[in-house]
Amino acid sequence: MNFKYWDPTIEKMPRLELEALQLQKLKSEINNAFRTSFYKERLTKAGIRSSDDIKTLDDLKRIPFTTKDDLRDGFPYGFLAIPKEKIVRLHASSGTTGVPTTIYFSKDDIKRWADYMARCIYGTGSDSNDVFQNMISYGLFTGGLGFHQGGEEVGMLVIPAGAGNTTRQFKMMQDYGTTVLHATPSFLLHLETKMKEAGVKRESLSLKRAFAGAEPYSEDTRQRIQELLKVDVYNSYGLSEMNGPGVAFECQCKDGLHIWEDGYIAEIVDPDTLQPVKDGETGELVLTILCREATPILRYRTRDLTSFYTEQCKCQRTHRRLKRLTGRSDDMLIINGVNVFPSQVEEVIMGMKEVGNNYLIVVEKDGALDRMIVKTEMSSNLFMDDTRPLIALKEKIRKALQASISISPRVELQESGSLPVPEGKAVRVMDTRCKDI
Ligand code: ADP
Ligand code: ZN
Repeated sequence: MNFKYWDPTIEKMPRLELEALQLQKLKSEINNAFRTSFYKERLTKAGIRSSDDIKTLDDLKRIPFTTKDDLRDGFPYGFLAIPKEKIVRLHASSGTTGVPTTIYFSKDDIKRWADYMARCIYGTGSDSNDVFQNMISYGLFTGGLGFHQGGEEVGMLVIPAGAGNTTRQFKMMQDYGTTVLHATPSFLLHLETKMKEAGVKRESLSLKRAFAGAEPYSEDTRQRIQELLKVDVYNSYGLSEMNGPGVAFECQCKDGLHIWEDGYIAEIVDPDTLQPVKDGETGELVLTILCREATPILRYRTRDLTSFYTEQCKCQRTHRRLKRLTGRSDDMLIINGVNVFPSQVEEVIMGMKEVGNNYLIVVEKDGALDRMIVKTEMSSNLFMDDTRPLIALKEKIRKALQASISISPRVELQESGSLPVPEGKAVRVMDTRCKDI
């Protein structure tokens, strides 16, 4: 394969050099951190007086972890390291798990972020010949502007389409000859459902590629999008605390996400003991940003679960790869004492051809017990007037789930396109157990 590199020197930098660069950048980030009220206190308490106390990358372990609650407590300016007149923008997290957190950027921070995004986009084979339709929310959410700037940096024609409104999206794809899309995986599937309904022919579109991220999805879901929309799908990972998208991205091998280690130090720890896991084992990703002066964040507990690949990638990039992120440690549901991740349900159902493009997990109280209901849309070729195939399908899904997650849920089949699709991240779980209704 003819691999494309935006910044070959950095992307293929020998590990020793890369680690030396990380140490140098870490020291300067610690100097930034001392300018914030939060870290001044935190680092001093941990016995770190200045960046001179960090002599090797291993000394990073002396720095305490930072959590989302710390960021919330530091709201609005506790993590700010530069004078207010040097800030040019702020972004905030989506607030999936509570009050959103705010991140500030200087002019140089924005430039650096755009460069990491360009590296991701260009590495998929996209270039200035492409027309890029960015179908994700603009605004405080980092996904919109993050990809927008990266696309412009690469020289693509960027359409700031924003999320939702499939009819308008199809029109823009046809009018401007869109070749590359960016959206959540759930929106890409929704788009395909609507495409059929609207009678839009795939041949009338020039699509080649799609970037899908901002939420977990399974390999089967990727395959499904690739087959249905006939595009190459690349997984994109990021979080607002680490700028937003552009933290880790798949290369053309599409086997794990390269984390840009000149911009971020990645550790994977056991979420209970907080000790590093062995290479290849799953744990919680902890990230330290090395490329932002306005809001330094050290050893941030992402809650996202993943593992490192142990071998180097065929593309010759030296930056390590993360395994597809399966969800957050706090996504875990406990149903009658059994632990289940929504991603496990997705893995079972999205591989089934008869299942449509959307699903929802409902958990409710049934007397003293918990009840799990899995609502899945059907692919449109199942006939509603003959109930036999429907009953057989429900039973097939139930049995497959029981074998995989040891829970026998109630399965409900719904018509294609009938389950809700939010404009932002997909909502996969409705847990009504804790509500006093
Ligand atoms: P919030 O934490 O409020 O959702 P963000 O918009 O910053 O705010 O979202 C970042 C989170 O989104 C990540 O921590 C992760 O849980 C999830 N995420 C982003 N990209 C992916 C991806 N490719 N795969 C799985 N999860 C992802
Ligand atoms: Zn690679």
